[in-house]
Order: sequence, then C-alpha cells, then structure tokens
Amino acid sequence: MSEATATANDASTPAEVAAPRDLFSKFDALIAEREALLATGVRDPFSIVMDEVKSPTVAVIKGKETILLGTYNYMGMTFDPDVVQAGKDALDAFGAGTTGSRVLNGTYQGHKEVEQALIDFYGTEHAMVFSTGYQANLGMISTLAGKGDYIILDADSHASIYDGCYLGNAEIVRFRHNSVENLDKRLGRLPAEAQKLVVLEGVYSMLGDVAPLPEMVAAVRKHANCMILVDEAHGMGFFGPNGRGVYEEQGVEKDVDFVVGTFSKSVGTVGGFCVSNHPKFEVLRLVCRPYVFTASLPPSVVATAATSIRKLMHAGDKRAHLWENSRRLHGGLTDLGFTLGTKTPQSAIIAVILTDQTQAVAMWQALLELGLYVNMARPPATPAGTFLLRCSLCAEHSADQVEQIIGMFAAAGKATGAIG
Ligand code: PMP
Repeated sequence: MSEATATANDASTPAEVAAPRDLFSKFDALIAEREALLATGVRDPFSIVMDEVKSPTVAVIKGKETILLGTYNYMGMTFDPDVVQAGKDALDAFGAGTTGSRVLNGTYQGHKEVEQALIDFYGTEHAMVFSTGYQANLGMISTLAGKGDYIILDADSHASIYDGCYLGNAEIVRFRHNSVENLDKRLGRLPAEAQKLVVLEGVYSMLGDVAPLPEMVAAVRKHANCMILVDEAHGMGFFGPNGRGVYEEQGVEKDVDFVVGTFSKSVGTVGGFCVSNHPKFEVLRLVCRPYVFTASLPPSVVATAATSIRKLMHAGDKRAHLWENSRRLHGGLTDLGFTLGTKTPQSAIIAVILTDQTQAVAMWQALLELGLYVNMARPPATPAGTFLLRCSLCAEHSADQVEQIIGMFAAAGKATGAIG
C-alpha cells in the first residue's frame, strides 16, 4: 500500500480531506464543450423535437414545416396505409404490449408471422426477431463468438457491433475500413484451428459507402474456420433485386452465414432480426441473452413490420426512384462544391464533410432555418474525427423536393462560407 492510500484510508483522517467523489467528472470536458457551443446562440443539434409529422418527408419543427433529410425512412413505409392499418388492428386485437420475454409469455402469433415474413423476404430457413437492431447485433455477436474464438471486424463498425464484441468473451481483431488486404493479413495471423466470426456491414452509415463484399468473401475463404455475418441495416429494402441488401446485389448470398437487420430503417418501425440457414440456428433462442432477458416487441409493432416487409418484396419502383434521388442529390451537392463522403452515389446516405464543429453546426442551423432537417454527426460516431451533415434520402422524396434541398444547400453553404 502506498503512503498516499494509507493516509486516505486512515480512520483518523478528517472526512473533508477525502477526494470528492463524482462519477460524472469524466464528462466535464464534453459538458464544457457543449456549453461553450450553445453559448454562441446556436440550436442544439441533438435535441430537436418533431412537433408534428405530416408524411415520411415532412415534419413541423418549432412551428416550421420542414423537409426531413435525416431519417432512416428509406422506403417511406411509416405512413403506408396498409402498414398503419395492420398496427391499429393488432392493437385492438392483442393490446398494447406483451409484458414478457419471447421465451415465456411474449411470443404471440404476430411474432411468428413477422419471422415468417422475414423467411419469405430473405429466402432463408430461419429468422429470429429481437426488440431492436442494436440488440440483434449484441445478441448474435456475443453468443456466436465465445471464449477462445475470434471476432474480426471493420474498424468503422457500428456501435452495436462493438458492444456485441464487448459483451462476449472472444478476442477482438479490427481491420482497416473496407480494406480487403488488411482483412486478409489480420486473418492470416490468427491460429488456423480457432473459430472465427467475420463481421461486415453492407452500407457503412456514416459516409454511406458500400463494402466490397465479393473481394472480402474471397479473402475470408482463404482462411480456415471462418463464418461471416453481414449487418444490412442500411441495405435492406434498397439494394438487390429483392431488396435483401448489398450482399444480394453483389451476389454473395451463399457465402454469408448470418444477416442482421433492423425494422427501424426501411421497414419503418422498430425491432431487429437475424436470418440464417444454419441448421442449429434455433438453439439461439435459448442461449442468446439479449433475446431471452428482455420483453418482446408490442403486437402492433410486429404487425406493422410484417406488413411492411411483405410490401417491400414488391417495391422495385420505389427502389428505382430512391436511386434517382440519390444520384441527383449527390450530383447537385458535388456541383455546388461540397466535399462528400463518397465520390459517386453509393447508397441512400450522402454525407457532407465539413471542416470543424463550428462550421458543421452553422450549416446545420442555416439549413434548419431554411426548412431542411439533416443529421449532424460528430466524433466518436464518425470516422477519423470528421464532422458530417448526413443526408439520408427517402423513396417518397419527390424530384421537386430534391431540387428544393439542393437550393437550400446552395443558400446555406454561401451564407456560412462552407462553399465559395
Ligand atoms: N446496425 C447499424 C449499421 C446501424 O446503423 C444501426 C442503427 N443506426 C443498428 C445496427 C441498430 O439498429 P436499431 O435502430 O434497430 O437499434
């Protein structure tokens, strides 16, 4: 025991000299940074309230009608009349909530129906629904990879993937974002006999870039004992002939062992899932803690999800229009001189990269005042310490709205000096 601790623990030491205890002191720098920012008079980008939501693309914020360009409502299903009606019917028939775990009283016929809708949508043998996509990653990753196993993940992976790693006992190995070479190298250093789970994402949500899945699969196949999990949170609905995701579009369906996804984006409600053809998949319902030890989704939510998923199977026109919107916005913002997260439009996410927090917040606020809501993203959520205005398009944005959006970026960019 050091002299200092001996003194601190000495019962005769007066109480007032004990170091102040404040578990919040680690947040002091963040609190000070936010206070300084808000003292400049800007609005807080992280406390926006939608007073009214009129459609998938328009809401009222502080009395102003605002175009929404910062939601994950890619396919615009939130107000689909069939989806809304299914939710109302289930609420009437089954009540507001299940008040229990899936493995006890919390599996209603609606939970089985949404799992069947996923099986039909993905063409897999199995589907397991979680209460959020976050929990789906948490559960799948922590349960699949245990002590002595390895998880190999992209450095820019979503927080839920990282948290799934931390919840389990496997060794964690990161590779450089979207680098096939680095993935191959990292795998090459691991013991051949060890079991390995490689975790990839179809679309990376901060910059909106897409993974080179065929090349990555080929690199993984060079090494023994690897299974592949792909998170298609931002790919579902939009990519591939059936809207399954980037892994379908890039033709690697047979190589992927597990697909994780969410209902909180293209499906338009809340919930998460994993689909797979693994013959032992169903055992996960007994051993996956984020599945077992939480209440199941409300009946209205699973009913809206099932209806939405079945409609997304036939949404080719919406997919085509969303691609048109993405190409037009990417081209318009590039022509204005903004620096974007990708050189070409790769997904429904278009990230505008700004130099620092002050410029990002100024642009964000100028856009909001003009009637446009975008997501502000900052470290640690963003890669390489960047400040981003993340635009995510919806299949329900009209061509006219996209032109208005480009006009607002031109005005806000000039007013704030973000563009010349
Ligand atoms: N994975 C990725 C890649 C995500 O971006 C998100 C949410 N933004 C999730 C998982 C979690 O989804 P959910 O909102 O359903 O918890």
